[in-house]
Amino acid sequence: MYYFPLTPRLQRLYASEVTAKHMSWHAEHQIDEVGLMCHPSDSLVWKHFDHEHLTFSYETRNVRLGLCTDGFQPFGQSRQQYSLWSVIVTLYNLPPYMCMKDEFMFLTIIVSGPRNLKYNIDVFLQPFIAKLMYFLDVWEVTYDLSTKQNFQLSDALLWTINDFLAYDMLSGWSTAGRTACPYCMEESEAFTLQHGGKKILV
Ligand SMILES: [Zn+2]
Repeated sequence: MYYFPLTPRLQRLYASEVTAKHMSWHAEHQIDEVGLMCHPSDSLVWKHFDHEHLTFSYETRNVRLGLCTDGFQPFGQSRQQYSLWSVIVTLYNLPPYMCMKDEFMFLTIIVSGPRNLKYNIDVFLQPFIAKLMYFLDVWEVTYDLSTKQNFQLSDALLWTINDFLAYDMLSGWSTAGRTACPYCMEESEAFTLQHGGKKILV
């Protein structure tokens, strides 16, 4: 596997004139119309997070992250068995016209090999998770060019972005069979068609 540490890249955002002044955009922007969502920071889940983690959200320069992962077969056409999983970390501090640009999507982990990962993705995520856990206690001294001062930087993972299959691997909740719905879990009212044997999720 390859692991590309994230912290130095986050700190570099504060060392550049182009990005440093935009890193608190999520806390400073005004919503034009109530009920309109133009950025994840307008969402209820974001506000709930802020409310639950006051020390973290008080420092608006702290970084909000999303984790995106999926696997594919790079040599699919040659029928050679080879699997490649990539983990890309996205950044939500920046305004909408910046935060979904390639240069702010950080390729963090690549796992490649002849066999599919199956359910071992958590093993390969460990260096990234260790970094998140480390940041819970230790905030990294970072120079902010826009204010010309040092501050203590931390980060938090808000959510993951993945298809239903990768959700299964990331969450550890099987998204196949009767209890496939990760919200209803055992409470699911799914049933099997008597004749066709097909599972119907409700
Ligand atoms: Zn459900």
